Amino acid sequence: PVPTDPVIRLTEVNKHYGNFHALRDVSLEVAKGEKIIICGPSGSGKSTLIRCINRIERHDSGEILVDGHRLTGDTKDVAAIRREVGMVFQSFNLFPHMTILENCTIAPRKSRGLGKAEAEERAMHYLTKVRIPDQAGKYPGQLSGGQQQRVAIARALCMQPRVMLFDEPTSALDPEMVKEVLDTMVELAEEGMTMLCVTHEMGFARQVADRVIFMDRGEKIEEAAPGAFFTNPQSPRAREFLQQVI
Ligand code: ADP
Ligand code: MG
Repeated sequence: PVPTDPVIRLTEVNKHYGNFHALRDVSLEVAKGEKIIICGPSGSGKSTLIRCINRIERHDSGEILVDGHRLTGDTKDVAAIRREVGMVFQSFNLFPHMTILENCTIAPRKSRGLGKAEAEERAMHYLTKVRIPDQAGKYPGQLSGGQQQRVAIARALCMQPRVMLFDEPTSALDPEMVKEVLDTMVELAEEGMTMLCVTHEMGFARQVADRVIFMDRGEKIEEAAPGAFFTNPQSPRAREFLQQVI
């Protein structure tokens, strides 16, 4: 089915790093409210794809539309995209010398123009949502990895993004903290957030994904409903990959 309201649309996107062809004619659409999981071996271009959508990297050819904005060289577009796209990385990337509350209020104050009180009220709302309101006055270094990643999610939500991009958000966490972050992500999914998520947490993928995309060597090899993908992957490379991660 063709999504009626694509929040993200890539058409035949290519990206090179020097001579290395990192993305090969990748096309995909994410409709409003959809949850798409991207998986694939290390080096297959998953992060590059996410980074092109958020315009951390610039693609060479093809078209990327985010919330109706076409990603070009124009810096105005980049600012618009950053406001609409929430991003959570493997490393939490919190500002170490700011409190949790300050980490969550800086972007809304700067780029949404919120006043201090309003930004703090919003931050406390999302910190409560990720179940760490009591940590607001602390510094990132005083929190566990799982708590820091939940702050990173709250910080992204404070911008009230149209879509959330996740790049292996649990890969750097100790095993006992993975669940608390995945639980937060499941809640977001259930509330209807549009999500594009690189992860090898296949239980999570089965639970929330509308579609799973399998990438290998810069190509989108497969795109399927999770049930079909996990029980009957079409390509030998996907079968091999699933044997390794499940
Ligand atoms: P994945 O996230 O699937 O592991 P990446 O998108 O990070 O893969 O990387 C895809 C390929 O592009 C890898 O072979 C990687 O070494 C290469 N690559 C990624 N970033 C750069 C860069 N900044 N410069 C050169 N090569 C890069
Ligand atoms: Mg990666």
